[in-house]
Amino acid sequence: MLEFYLKKIKYLILFIAVFFLFNSCENKDNSPNIFLITLDGVRWQEVFYGIDTVLVNNPKLTSEKKYLLENFDDSNSESKRKKLMPFFWNEIFKKGKLYGDLNQNSYFSITNNKIFSYPGYNEILTGSADSLINSNSKVYNKNVTVLEKLNNNKFYKNKVAAFCSWDVFPFIINDKRSGVPVNAGYMPATSPNLSEIEKFINSNQRRAPVIWESVRLDVFTHNLALEYVKKEKPKVLYLAYGETDDFAHMGDYDQYIKALHNNDKMISELWSFIQSHKFYKDNTFLIITTDHGRGIEEKWSGHGNSKSTWAAILGPNLNEKGIIKDSQNFTNQIAPTIEKITGISTNNHNSIKL
Ligand SMILES: [Zn+2]
Repeated sequence: MLEFYLKKIKYLILFIAVFFLFNSCENKDNSPNIFLITLDGVRWQEVFYGIDTVLVNNPKLTSEKKYLLENFDDSNSESKRKKLMPFFWNEIFKKGKLYGDLNQNSYFSITNNKIFSYPGYNEILTGSADSLINSNSKVYNKNVTVLEKLNNNKFYKNKVAAFCSWDVFPFIINDKRSGVPVNAGYMPATSPNLSEIEKFINSNQRRAPVIWESVRLDVFTHNLALEYVKKEKPKVLYLAYGETDDFAHMGDYDQYIKALHNNDKMISELWSFIQSHKFYKDNTFLIITTDHGRGIEEKWSGHGNSKSTWAAILGPNLNEKGIIKDSQNFTNQIAPTIEKITGISTNNHNSIKL
């Protein structure tokens, strides 16, 4: 009888030991997780003020005007911006930080003078503008991104991944040299144990309209990223949406607005997962920005010459919240801010004050 109980206790101790071992293995260190997200060429005007009714009244938009006004217009400006980007204004505005509302002296600007994508993403990811980058060509970046630095750090090694709609990102991140896996353009998910959603996307992403060969629809990029996060638990994820800029270049204000609204919903979905999973909960920073601004009024579809953009940060222990008024921050501060949060560098005087 005694032997029977001893055997039972032995199993109980073994069970407890395995339980604790499993739990401690899941996140061995407390180094914070980073989710960096970019929306391509989204104007600060829509982020802070919602749809631009002047552009909605453009005669080209007759068939879509009713839909846009019904869904995104409001006489109250706070309700109006909430309708377009509910996650930004219900969640980030209250719990995080927003930069870039020029009307409140909140300045956020790119420092490169190219005002297009490769130089913009290079600046976001490396922490400085490179005047030698003067095209969007598929050329491997000579500069080292913060993703590469993290991937070379013992706490983040092989826990960094990027999912991008635009097919130039493998070159910007220099996947060959950095070792950071980059799934971009119409690449399929690759892993020995594909989930049902990944299998579905692999066989269907090119069956939906391929509007641009070089830019995958964001719904596929987003869901591949979300599946990867659920399965692999990366500590650093870079997610680059792309539709907004391309719809804007086509002059489709309705599609630009719908894409922006959808991006906000996708980010909300990602944040819900982060906050519901103990590996990520309360130890993850979400940093969201854009690579360049756009023109105003009838020139909105091009990039214009404004250097004004915007950024949003959500995460644990932030001091001042809401729109950070009377401040000037720059795109080249994003990478140093990530270096400071993660502690991979001590030289971070250029980081954004959190
Ligand atoms: Zn563009």
